[in-house]
Amino acid sequence: MNTGKIGKVYLVGAGPGDPKLITIRGLEALKRSDVIVFDRLAGPQLLNHARQDAERIYVGKLPDRHTMKQEDINQLLVDLALQGKSVTRLKGGDPTVFGRVGEEAELLRQNGVEYEIIPGITSAISVPAYAGIPVTHRDLASSFSVITGHESPDKLDLSIHWDKVTNATGTLVFLMGVAKIGYISEQLVKHGRSPQTPVALVQWGTRAEQRTLVGTLDNIEEKVREANFKPPAVIVVGDVVAQRETLAWAERKPLFGQRVLVTRARSQASELVAKLDDLGAETYEFPVIETKLPDSESNVQAIQEALAQADDYDWVILTSANGVEYFFRWLEREAVDIRRFHRAQFAAVGPKTAQELAHRGIRADLLPESYQAEGLVDKLDGLVKPGQKALLPRGDLARELLPKKLRELGVEAVEIDVYETALAAPKDMWIAEMLAKKQIHVITFTSSSTVVNLLEALKLNGIEDPVAALQGIEIVCIGPVTAETAEKHGIQVTVVPQHATIDGMVEALAERHRIMRGE
Ligand code: SAH
Repeated sequence: MNTGKIGKVYLVGAGPGDPKLITIRGLEALKRSDVIVFDRLAGPQLLNHARQDAERIYVGKLPDRHTMKQEDINQLLVDLALQGKSVTRLKGGDPTVFGRVGEEAELLRQNGVEYEIIPGITSAISVPAYAGIPVTHRDLASSFSVITGHESPDKLDLSIHWDKVTNATGTLVFLMGVAKIGYISEQLVKHGRSPQTPVALVQWGTRAEQRTLVGTLDNIEEKVREANFKPPAVIVVGDVVAQRETLAWAERKPLFGQRVLVTRARSQASELVAKLDDLGAETYEFPVIETKLPDSESNVQAIQEALAQADDYDWVILTSANGVEYFFRWLEREAVDIRRFHRAQFAAVGPKTAQELAHRGIRADLLPESYQAEGLVDKLDGLVKPGQKALLPRGDLARELLPKKLRELGVEAVEIDVYETALAAPKDMWIAEMLAKKQIHVITFTSSSTVVNLLEALKLNGIEDPVAALQGIEIVCIGPVTAETAEKHGIQVTVVPQHATIDGMVEALAERHRIMRGE
């Protein structure tokens, strides 16, 4: 819709790849823009922050398409703004460092479009830092240069004055230089650097594929060839490279290099994602579950009737954090005061559920040792008395075990489906590619429905045989029931923690990797 209003364009530095290395200002622009224009150097996870309804335009390379030409991108930004849209153009690293932001800004200006340049963390500094190489050091280098290695040799010689650049600063950082590493090393030695000067190439820094190759000016070309080392990489030349031996840190995290697909509902994924992230994993959210309020007439009526008897319950039994959240939503909708449950004891299946209750000012009276329905049954057996009445607010997919056992114990169990679980199948342009290239190393499942829905969602993303696509990937299930569902579908499960909690999952996975690395 053209309202006559001209939109604003944010030229945002996305950082080197780790999606948390974006500035707060950049994130704010991303969150509020109508359109996001991005390419491969900006971490794809950043797009999760965009508004659901925001248009996402990929201008990078696809199997059947070249990267969009710079002129076309410039024009695209102008066109979108003239349509009245606010636009975030995400650019890898910092937009002003070999990012051609000048050309984009210039055309915007010519067309009267307002813009902001939001700086980012350039790969020139951050990628070495993630490899344990500081670009300056009190004793080793008091200055650094950032140089492009992109041009063809004759042009490279025109734009780079080797005689001046070679010794101008202690550290030299080359971007886009992998293909020219031989030529670059040769020029540096020719103009006075010792052939023994340390050199490091850091590929895909700050990401799961981060890999570092170290050599000296006289052997690095050969090493790059032997290792078949590919771009993108940052090249660091100078004595600071040796710091890596003591300072390397990212690679030491237990889940370094692991790309983990988290299948939970987006609203619940954050805790799991944050914990995996902390241990060095690169997380990738693929929410295959959506929870929502049920809207069928009969369901709503059942809930209303059950809540109308709030004063009669001896027990309120909650078997998931979602259950708690939706139970309270219904109380609000139906204007039922929680104090009407004055007779009831509250039971929670696990610590997370208990915590959700505690947030709302209710201390769980009962919490089993093993955080599953079985544990709850054991605990309730002996406590409940025949003739008592229990309310079980739960999701539509909840297991039958608990109400069945309660009835066997003579308890009147009233189940209400306070929320519904639906399949979410996010269209994800990378997922099929990442699976095909074996770039996903771990998948986490936190319920049986995440297993079933992932297979469905993968099909909807064009993967014909999802079970085959998951072969060779480490599968982490929160507990035995989820694991059983996975195995039933032919998925081989690698890790099931002792305690069926998020913490248990993350710790069991980290422990496995510590052992595999011989720590
Ligand atoms: N504006 C960007 C640089 C764009 S030029 C910035 O400030 O970082 C593209 C080059 O950046 C690549 O060829 C590579 O040399 C470097 N680069 C960007 N991200 C990188 C990463 N995660 N790991 C290694 N090199 C990276």
